[in-house]
Amino acid sequence: MDILSQNIKYLKGVGPARAKTLGDEFKIFTVRDLLYTFPYKYIDRTVIHTINRLQEDMPYVQLKGHIINLETEGFGRKLHLVATFTDGTGYVDLVWFNSIKRLQQTLRVDQTYLLFGKPSTFNGRFSFTHPELDVLQTGNSGTDNCNKVPALLPHFTSGLQPYYHTTEKMKRNYFTSRLISEIIHNAFLAIGEKTEETLPHHIIAEHNLMPLHEALRTVHFPASSEALPPARRRLKFEELFYLQIDILRYAKNRRLNYAGFTFPQIGDLFNTFYTECLPFPLTGAQKRVIKEIRRDLNTGRQMNRLLQGDVGSGKTMVALMVSLIALDNGYQTCLMAPTEILAEQHLSTLRRQLKDLPVVVELLTGNVTGSKRRDILERTANGEIHLLVGTHALIEPTVKFRNLGLAIIDEQHRFGVKQRAKLWNKNVRPPHILVMTATPIPRTLAMTVYGDLEVSVINELPPGRKPVETLHYTINDTPQLYEGIRRQLAAGRQVYVVYPLIAESEKIDLQDLENGYGHICSAFPGYSVGRVHGRMQPVEKEAAMQAFSHGDTQILVSTTVIEVGVNVPNATVMVIQNADRFGLSQLHQLRGRVGRGADRSYCILVTQGRLSDNTRRRIGIMTETTDGFLIAEEDLRLRGPGDLQGTAQSGLPFELKIADVVRDNELMAVCREAAAKTLQQDPYEQLSQNAVIWRQLKVMTERRTNFSAIS
Ligand code: ADP
Ligand code: MG
Repeated sequence: MDILSQNIKYLKGVGPARAKTLGDEFKIFTVRDLLYTFPYKYIDRTVIHTINRLQEDMPYVQLKGHIINLETEGFGRKLHLVATFTDGTGYVDLVWFNSIKRLQQTLRVDQTYLLFGKPSTFNGRFSFTHPELDVLQTGNSGTDNCNKVPALLPHFTSGLQPYYHTTEKMKRNYFTSRLISEIIHNAFLAIGEKTEETLPHHIIAEHNLMPLHEALRTVHFPASSEALPPARRRLKFEELFYLQIDILRYAKNRRLNYAGFTFPQIGDLFNTFYTECLPFPLTGAQKRVIKEIRRDLNTGRQMNRLLQGDVGSGKTMVALMVSLIALDNGYQTCLMAPTEILAEQHLSTLRRQLKDLPVVVELLTGNVTGSKRRDILERTANGEIHLLVGTHALIEPTVKFRNLGLAIIDEQHRFGVKQRAKLWNKNVRPPHILVMTATPIPRTLAMTVYGDLEVSVINELPPGRKPVETLHYTINDTPQLYEGIRRQLAAGRQVYVVYPLIAESEKIDLQDLENGYGHICSAFPGYSVGRVHGRMQPVEKEAAMQAFSHGDTQILVSTTVIEVGVNVPNATVMVIQNADRFGLSQLHQLRGRVGRGADRSYCILVTQGRLSDNTRRRIGIMTETTDGFLIAEEDLRLRGPGDLQGTAQSGLPFELKIADVVRDNELMAVCREAAAKTLQQDPYEQLSQNAVIWRQLKVMTERRTNFSAIS
């Protein structure tokens, strides 16, 4: 067995206990896994910055100085510790929200510290949140040693110290970043001079890449900061090249292997609906998208299309018309929504719009049980039901169709790849797939992530929509906010008040919501106030949502459970509390809940008075634009793709450890081209110069999740 595939426990400095920790915490099992565990940052221990030279967009920096003042501010859950730190050239604030007791006991005002952190600005003053502080040792010779940097491992010749992620559990066991570094050093000693190349020579030469061994050595033990970019580029290239090879190869196979149903007819149902039942003229974008889809349905290949359209752009009508095409050709359709309430809403919309046509629409969710369920299952299986709307209950194996030809999935980000794949087996050939989402994924990213998924965009809202007016209020503006709400309520409108609910602080958030509910109830005594949050039973939630949607309650205080799809045209105000804690795309989705009727609507973003520059920028984007794509791009830029709803479940064939699908977009394009060229020149995967590619692809995808169906 080659050494890279060997278990790490045999490496010097590891042993069974540490091997188990690395496996449990990071899925590091083999020497290869270890070498591909990359530092997330480097500290240049030779450079110490000064406060008067700090700049706003600096990455992590090192400062040397001492604390002159240490005190707590705020109270309750807002309590934090603030230190004033100086190096003689200026002052910065250090801020901690956790471990306050411990820090108060250990931090000393007469001690010289080496500080490491990322500066951010607030009102022109620099601050560091949760900086790392290292005590600078005073030498035992008695002379002041403070100008020396801390002792480094001998192999950090350049003074650049790599930092590896460690978990709390590891920290408790003194399993530090430095220890990981040492273990990696031992791995290199064991491997010797060479690591087997993972890319063919012709590609290395053509793209001017650093050889693998050198690249790996460099990222773990950079000889200089100049050596890092080419080393990282080489490793990113490797990841992205194999990502693209895998996606393109899969797409090619799928084209070869999966014939799709053809829907050649534009039949009676479609035509009758179009000429007699359309409740409104279609927008140009809706027409174009329907055409694009119709074309797909005639190619003889399975359609695999992502339909992106901003909230309220009218995707449901597209879904309806496409399912009529399926039906005209003798096929059933299923429409899958992420929640019960959305499924029910679809059911009633579709039934209303199809009431004059002989189309049978039914609902299947977890709530449909007993004889009703048996009845629906039976009529689905015998083909009596033409259009089955539901939740993920639809993909259960007990649900059998007579002839399923089209599966439409609404709000794609709530469904994982694997769930979608289950739809494939519901007929002798996989049904056509249409995924609809209001979360705009930049087109380049969608291409990458979904491979051969085609993308359609509804880039036009139905006419007559008044854009939602977005305003930023601070908590000090509450009287004005309530005044505005009162006016809307008096005019007979309804109001949402939303609080964030983030898992890690769920309790606190729930408390926030309950307090908010109390305030609202006493501030608006003449109105009834409903409440929805994730901790409630589904039936309770459902009841509260229904009450609001029927107008029995005028104000709905909730967490983000209302984020997706609910349609209450009479609601004209969306108040978002602690708006700074939401992502931009999420704010945009929430904002889309209002502005659905004829009346002017408002979205009020409420924050604390004190805002970081970044938050102010984010709020500014929301108040300035309602363009979902622009917001999505900004969101990606400000938050990074890890937060992009959709990518987590999008089914990348393997985890990227160093490349970033957004930030490394350009390199991705290069790799995509290189991969396409390879597949074209070597379609039967026979050229000996490429043998390494297929071998490596196998290594990289070995532990991947099932990627048998992208969508
Ligand atoms: P989404 O794309 O967010 O799912 P919907 O399909 O729910 O949007 O449509 C939002 C609202 O716009 C619905 O009330 C729908 O009836 C209406 N609508 C859709 N298309 C048009 C159109 N072409 N003209 C006018 N109203 C439309
Ligand atoms: Mg919708």
